[in-house]
Amino acid sequence: DLTRLPRGRHFFANPGPTNIPDSIQHALSHASVDFMDGGFLTLYEGCVAGLKRVLKTTQEVFLYTGSGHAAWEACLVNLLSAGDRVLIIESGHFSQSWARMAIDLGIEVQVVAADWRRGAEIAAVQAALAADTGHAIKAVCAVHNETATGAVLPLAQIRAALDATGHPALFLADTISSLGSMDFRMDEWGVDAAVGGSQKGLMLPVGMSFTGVSAKAMAAHAGSKLPKHYFSWTNMLGRRHRSFVGTVPVTLFYGLAEALRLIEEEGLEQVFARHSRLAEGVRRCVRHWSGNKGPALFCESRDRLSDSVTAVLMPEGHNAEAVRRTALQRFNVSIGGGLGPLSGKVFRIGHLGDLNEPMILGTLGAVEMALRIEGVPHAPGGVGAAMAYLAEA
Ligand code: PLP
Repeated sequence: DLTRLPRGRHFFANPGPTNIPDSIQHALSHASVDFMDGGFLTLYEGCVAGLKRVLKTTQEVFLYTGSGHAAWEACLVNLLSAGDRVLIIESGHFSQSWARMAIDLGIEVQVVAADWRRGAEIAAVQAALAADTGHAIKAVCAVHNETATGAVLPLAQIRAALDATGHPALFLADTISSLGSMDFRMDEWGVDAAVGGSQKGLMLPVGMSFTGVSAKAMAAHAGSKLPKHYFSWTNMLGRRHRSFVGTVPVTLFYGLAEALRLIEEEGLEQVFARHSRLAEGVRRCVRHWSGNKGPALFCESRDRLSDSVTAVLMPEGHNAEAVRRTALQRFNVSIGGGLGPLSGKVFRIGHLGDLNEPMILGTLGAVEMALRIEGVPHAPGGVGAAMAYLAEA
């Protein structure tokens, strides 16, 4: 019950939605304007150009009023026909959800299975592509940053696997919890459709999502037969805004313009460096806790640790939900829970968006107190380990 939380600032350390900076909140309070007005159109076009810079693409971008799921669905219905096959690289809850959506839409799904703690092997992806000599696979779907496990997929290596096998499949990447927090290079990595959302690295409320779309994907779109109307890219191209079959969510664009200004004022590469530094602080803390048979990093692949979210695996016999509830009810700190089969086993610390050292340390301090209160074994002093790192980083 959020109305009965203790006094003081609500510390929000969920992996999305994320904290909204004051200047974005103010920008979002802009009065409604006519979305066909020339003044708004200028702001709008500036936002689309800015999104392209964040996606590192010079190709098309289409936008939707809807959360990330809308952009997932837009990619599938615009690119595929009933009975087409997609190759889903298993990463965790979100790769599974994308696969379920594809099945519901009448798409055949082949999965490259993976251990969620270690992540998919790129050799297995390449083997699946090499075995598909008839090119039945029309698209490869990869979640860049699996928000449920705190693990990254090396997209450049997946591109290399496609190239090495000469496989013509489209390459679809979910960048929902990486974009604007971790490096993503749509054009350089040959991504044909990149899915993004407003409520994570872009520091906006939930409600808008978008897809970067390559020329190759536009050609595939021309032949796709799955039913679509609101999501149809062809319909969008006929609109003045080249997106939104319907009213444009104007206020979100005032917020987006400010978000892009903040990101570019800091510098995209500096934004990534800040995320990387804060993430490492969190990991130093968790590794310290784990010393006394305590909670441990869920992701076991050192080269795949996410810089936007850390999933923390509870010791056997201890429930992550108890830690989460205590952090919230005693200390007004909101962290994420475990998703799907990880429910109760994992809690997640979001460290993306508008965030600095004191915010991270406050969260870690509250979580460490919650571990103590809930009698979860851990080596005390994890916050000190994070401080020692962050002071020097
Ligand atoms: N993909 C990833 C990696 C996510 O983290 C999320 C949401 O957290 C989604 C997809 C679904 O997006 P939404 O909840 O905005 O529909």
